[in-house]
Amino acid sequence: MSQEIIKKIENKKVGEAVELLKVLWAFRLPKHRYRYGQSYLVIRDKRAFLVDAVHSETKEAIKAILEKNNATVVAIILTHGHLIGQLGGTSSEVSSWFNNAPILAHPSDITSANGIQEIIKNMELLSEFNLQFEHFGGHTPGSIIIHYPKEGLVFSGDVAIGSPYDSEDNVLDRPPLQSTDETQVIDMWSNMIFEPNAILPLHGKPVFGEENVKHALVHLVKKDSIMK
Ligand SMILES: [Zn+2]
Repeated sequence: MSQEIIKKIENKKVGEAVELLKVLWAFRLPKHRYRYGQSYLVIRDKRAFLVDAVHSETKEAIKAILEKNNATVVAIILTHGHLIGQLGGTSSEVSSWFNNAPILAHPSDITSANGIQEIIKNMELLSEFNLQFEHFGGHTPGSIIIHYPKEGLVFSGDVAIGSPYDSEDNVLDRPPLQSTDETQVIDMWSNMIFEPNAILPLHGKPVFGEENVKHALVHLVKKDSIMK
C-alpha cells in the first residue's frame, strides 16, 4: 500500500492534490534540496485542519477539496518557523483563503508580531480533533510534531525527513540542526510513546504501514542518519 500511495504523489505536479486516505490529502510542494515535499489537509465531519499548507502554489487545490467536502478549516498548524518565510501572502491573507482560520506555531519560533498565534494558547482548536503536539526543537527551537491518534498519523514537519522520491528507500532521516544537540532529537524519537501507522514529513516520501514505520524509525535514530 505504501508504494502505491507514494507513486500517486510522485505522479502529481507541484500544487496538485492527492487523496492519501479517506480523511487525508497531500499537496505537492516544490523541490527543496533535491527532495519534493508536501503539505497536508485532514477533514473530519466537515471540519478541517491544515498542516504546513500555506503556499500560494497549493491554495487553489486545497480550496477545491474544502468546497467539494463542504468543509471549514478550524486551524492552520505550522510544524516550525521556516514555514512563516514561505507564506503565500501576509498571515492574514493566508488565513483569509481558509475562512480566517488562525495560523498556529510554537512560541519559540514566533519572533515578531506577524499574526501567527501561539499554538499553546489555542489548544481548544486542537482538542476538537484530539490532536496533540510534541515539542521536539532541534531543527528550529520551536519544531513540533503533531499526533492525530484517531487515524494513527504523525505529521513530522522537518524533524524527520522522508527519503527522496527518486530513491528506492522509504525511511526517515534527521535534518540539519539549528539548536540543541543530536542526542536530544534522537531521544525524543526513541521515547515517542505514540505508535503511528503513518509518518508524514514536510520533505521527502511519507511512510505508511506499521512495519514500514517501525523500520523507518529505527533508521531515523541511527547515529549517521542525517540528511545529506
Ligand atoms: Zn525547516
